Amino acid sequence: MTENKIPYKIYLEESEMPQAWYNVRADMPTKPAPLLNPATGKPCAAADLEAVFCGELVKQELDNDTRYIPIPQEIRDFYKMYRPSPLVRAYCLEEKLGTPAKIYYKFEGNNTSGSHKLNSAIAQAYYAKNQGLKGVTTETGAGQWGTALAMACGYLGLDCKVYMVKCSYEQKPFRREVMRTYGASVTPSPSETTEVGRKILAENPGTTGSLGCAISEAVEAATTHEGYRYVLGSVLNQVLLHQSVIGMEAKAALDKYGVVPDTIIGCAGGGSNLGGLISPFMGEMLRGEREYKFIAVEPASCPSLTRGVFAYDFCDTGKVCPLAKMYTLGSGFIPSANHAGGLRYHGMSPVLSELYHEGLMEARSVEQTKVFEAAEYFARVEGILPAPESSHAIRVAIDEALRCRETGEEKTILFGLTGTGYFDLYAYQKFNDGQMDDYVPTDEEIAASVATLPKLG
Ligand SMILES: *Cc1c(COP(=O)(O)O)cnc(C)c1O
Repeated sequence: MTENKIPYKIYLEESEMPQAWYNVRADMPTKPAPLLNPATGKPCAAADLEAVFCGELVKQELDNDTRYIPIPQEIRDFYKMYRPSPLVRAYCLEEKLGTPAKIYYKFEGNNTSGSHKLNSAIAQAYYAKNQGLKGVTTETGAGQWGTALAMACGYLGLDCKVYMVKCSYEQKPFRREVMRTYGASVTPSPSETTEVGRKILAENPGTTGSLGCAISEAVEAATTHEGYRYVLGSVLNQVLLHQSVIGMEAKAALDKYGVVPDTIIGCAGGGSNLGGLISPFMGEMLRGEREYKFIAVEPASCPSLTRGVFAYDFCDTGKVCPLAKMYTLGSGFIPSANHAGGLRYHGMSPVLSELYHEGLMEARSVEQTKVFEAAEYFARVEGILPAPESSHAIRVAIDEALRCRETGEEKTILFGLTGTGYFDLYAYQKFNDGQMDDYVPTDEEIAASVATLPKLG
């Protein structure tokens, strides 16, 4: 068998990299519900969205039918600077766990921004540039998305205005400097530079901000500056589409060795990495070709799939964005300080929400100290210092592998390792000092937040 032994890392040749993104919506018998215009309650038409988003991205957002969308050559060239990303066979982890399970992970943290978000950032920046825009605006919470977008815009010579949640701006000064190095301007949110920011500051003078509030500011900045549009790093259909490169590369690498995963696991914040990772596999399942078990992992502190409701909700606190039908905790839900900043969003991708609603995907929530235990174990065994978000997937992959040890099942597990933890050492410090807690919202708190969902006729 040694000749056939699967290498520690399975790389693809450049020629084997995907030439088109895969749009899983094309294979979904029930499409994700359309975005609604908050003013009219009617499905958003392209014209509604084009005031805020780039034209080509609006097309991708609304396209439920085209199965493969070609990746423009310029984006493929950029991808080649940091892709294909390695697919790793976790031999060391398997041995350490003493499991008969075979574990693989797709590592997206090997670029300077440190996460998978660059896959969509370059696509969105490219379409903005192509449309002749001067620049784009966005929000960033933990900072990964802002960094990825700054890199993409720096490469294309596009202006980039980032509204960074104030507490992250203060806690993560080095992230801010990476963004500025790539040419982005970074404003702590809420700020005095927008009307919505001034309003929020007047109402809550000491506030350290939230993602929903930074989104409202970034949208206002886009619509009040000539030649600018707003871009978003997760949740939207277009972002899942761009992230399908993760799953397509993973599948191509596994196919080379005839490996078929049984269980595919990913962390879920807004759902983009998980959606991208599972897309081609989910496509096979939707077409009746194969069965897989998919598991979304979310923090117990922000459990939109496992404890939220499936309903139309606002995507932002300021309620300026379209309404999306998704699993949500309510747009006013303020998750307790969780160190996985990228998983603190109140809602979930409409595509994943629909798939979960139909029972095609499972979801689990995990507490953060359990997540950091898994992160540290993984770092020591596999060498990579994982991002806290990614470590949610590690936790459940380890749990599944341990279950296989009990049952003797030789399952093949694939999980998404979305990023590195270099900018999250404050969180590791809390964990190492034994000062991390596991806040889990009560049913009453969730019910109160869900009670404020918009009522639709
Ligand atoms: C943003 C982020 C996530 C969560 O976002 P999704 O859209 O759910 O993928 C996960 N991991 C890392 C490292 C991130 O930066």
